[in-house]
This record gives sequence, C-alpha cells and structure tokens, in this order.
Amino acid sequence: MPRDQAEAIVLRTFPLADQDKIAVFLTAERGVLRGVAKGARKFANRFGSSLEPLSHVTVFFYEKERSDLVTISSCDLRESFFDVFSDPAAGFALSYMAELSEEFVPVRARENLAFRLFLSILRAVRDKVDVQILTRYFEAWLLRLNGILPDIRRCRLCRRAIEDPAPAWLSPRRDGVFCDACAPSRKEEIRENLGRFLSWVRDNPPSACASLPFSSEEIRSFAGALQAMIIFHLEREPKSRRWLQAENGLSGRKE
Ligand SMILES: [Zn+2]
Repeated sequence: MPRDQAEAIVLRTFPLADQDKIAVFLTAERGVLRGVAKGARKFANRFGSSLEPLSHVTVFFYEKERSDLVTISSCDLRESFFDVFSDPAAGFALSYMAELSEEFVPVRARENLAFRLFLSILRAVRDKVDVQILTRYFEAWLLRLNGILPDIRRCRLCRRAIEDPAPAWLSPRRDGVFCDACAPSRKEEIRENLGRFLSWVRDNPPSACASLPFSSEEIRSFAGALQAMIIFHLEREPKSRRWLQAENGLSGRKE
C-alpha cells in the first residue's frame, strides 16, 4: 500500500497495549482520521512531541485493508499549541471543541472547513482572544457546517419575525424557533440578538472575536441555546462540557 499524508490537528490520543497509542486527527482533506502509532509510548520514540493534543502536524500513514484504523508511520510537527494548556479555561474549552469535532466531522470525508475553523481558533486562543467568545463562535460554526442551524429569525409556525423584547423559544426537536404564542415548550429562550450574533459569526474570522460587538453577558446568554442544539443532535451531553461549565460558572441546562 502506498504511503499517504495529511495536514492535521491531533484531537486526542489514548494508550493501546503496552507501547502503542491510538491517535485521532482532524485532517484538512479526509475528515477525522484514526491511526495506530506503534511504539509511541516508549521513551524517546520517533514521534517526539508531534502527537501531543492540539499539535498542528503533517501525518504520514498507510491504509490497512478492512480496518478503520490507519498505521501511522511518522508525524511532523508544524505548529505546537501546547502552551494553551497553561490556561485551564483555554484547555477545557479546546478539549470541548476537540470532542465535538471528533463527533460531528465525518470519518474520511472532505472537511476542509472544519479543519480551518479549528486551526484558526487555536491561533486565536494562542493570541489570547477570550475563550468563552471563541467557544460560542465554534458552536455556531459547528451547527452551521453540519446544516443543523435552524432559522431563528422567524417563528417556524406562523412565520412572524422574532423580535425583542417578545420572548421566543427554541425547540431542537422541532428544528426551529417559535414565538410565544406558537411555542410547543418553553425551556430554551431565544433572544433576537442571537440572530445578530450568528450573522456576525458567519461574516467574521475568529481573530475578530477580540473586538466583538457583544457584551460578555450577551455571549454567556447564547450558550444555552447553542448547546441545546448540539446536545439534541449528538443525542448526549459532551463529556467535556461539564468542565466548561465549571470554568465559566454557567448553570446546568434544565432538561
Ligand atoms: Zn408563531
């Protein structure tokens, strides 16, 4: 089998047997890629620090017949983001984004946008852009890239515009937002400025989050609705979300 290569971000690794690791990558050309790195747990192994989580790398690998796992032959470090873990809030937020990327990006699909999104967020975190804002930015893009961001500007039923200060309600199950009169349930309130935030996210790179035209109070208020949509489509709560909440002081979403 010929050797292949991909530009990638290491999402995570975990031990395999005594001396090996399984590494999960988000690649530019092939979506999520999982591979065996033989000997990666040995002292002074050939992978060095290239398999540290969040490393931006070029990974070289061989396909294996009848296996979803490739064999990683080597991995070259292009850009290290190890420093971001010195800030626990940044570490938790990026672990959460890595978990969601692994869950939402298809295996071996062409997913250049998801890769570019994560890489640009990593660079923004390194440049000390607020991680809470970047996490909301990531969630909004994740929903958009997966085609699961409903139109939140109009009531799904009566088509009336959603306007502050009238309350409107999200129903992930019914794939949309409902005005107060039509709402099938009233758990997750949607404010009109969430629509403005989503438009802003669509039109601006992560680095622009440093001068975002929303208050931190507003940003915090977007978490519930964005995460409700993510949890609905994932069909479970992301494991790393708990840490995120502890760090941001967010209250748990009431089911
Ligand atoms: Zn309505």
